[in-house]
Amino acid sequence: MIANYHTHTWRCNHAGGREEDYVRNAIARKFEILGFSDHTPYIFPGTYESGFRMLQNQLQDYCHVVRNLQKQFSGQIQIPLGVEMEYYPAYFNETLMLLRDAGIEYLLLGQHFVGNEINEHYSGKATGDESILERYCTQTCDAMQTGLFTYLAHPDLIHFRGDERTYRKHMRLICTEAKRCGIPLEVNMLGKMLDRNYPNPVFWELAAEEGCDVILGCDAHAPEHLLREDTERQLLAMIRSYGLNLLEKATLRNIK
Ligand SMILES: [Zn+2]
Ligand SMILES: [Zn+2]
Repeated sequence: MIANYHTHTWRCNHAGGREEDYVRNAIARKFEILGFSDHTPYIFPGTYESGFRMLQNQLQDYCHVVRNLQKQFSGQIQIPLGVEMEYYPAYFNETLMLLRDAGIEYLLLGQHFVGNEINEHYSGKATGDESILERYCTQTCDAMQTGLFTYLAHPDLIHFRGDERTYRKHMRLICTEAKRCGIPLEVNMLGKMLDRNYPNPVFWELAAEEGCDVILGCDAHAPEHLLREDTERQLLAMIRSYGLNLLEKATLRNIK
């Protein structure tokens, strides 16, 4: 691979390492592009504070550090400045304005919660409830329709334990909508490294049936995650075996 747009930093409280070491490892891998996309701050009502994303008052420093890396490594590697973001309709617009003002260059969609994270369902928590699966798909499709997201990270994050026919019926809608909107679907390397419920082969079979574009994403939460060529090889083999259309680079979507 020559481009990775899915990279975190220590600010989200569950990633580590120095930003510069992520860049150095990407250069060692001969990447042309390393995009930072840490978990966005989100403006929530009341006193709720999220534990897995940077705080609003860290956004400026995040942008500053990434912009300095852009200068420091200019001519060696491109370092676009992005964030990974959920689509929580009730809180989305205000947060989007914050990101625009800060000069964020691209958004990855990562729908970590169904509904919202304050009082609803974590997408990665196993469930047999079809209504949760259905809401995950609807919310993800609504997000893609905003036209703001460069790609959909780990579309198969939702952990549905019900029957496969039901899973296929709903998840196919994500594939058809991604295809219609021209949004690539990310095959997530971290899920593979940590042996999570994704990448889910059933989902990638659907994506192949619908002719979706796919892209590899490291979802690096540590600089070493960028060095996992073994994981890359395994996932490239899966991508080939399903005949999926792999993109080497993504076209960044303007967030204005
Ligand atoms: Zn994370
Ligand atoms: Zn991520």
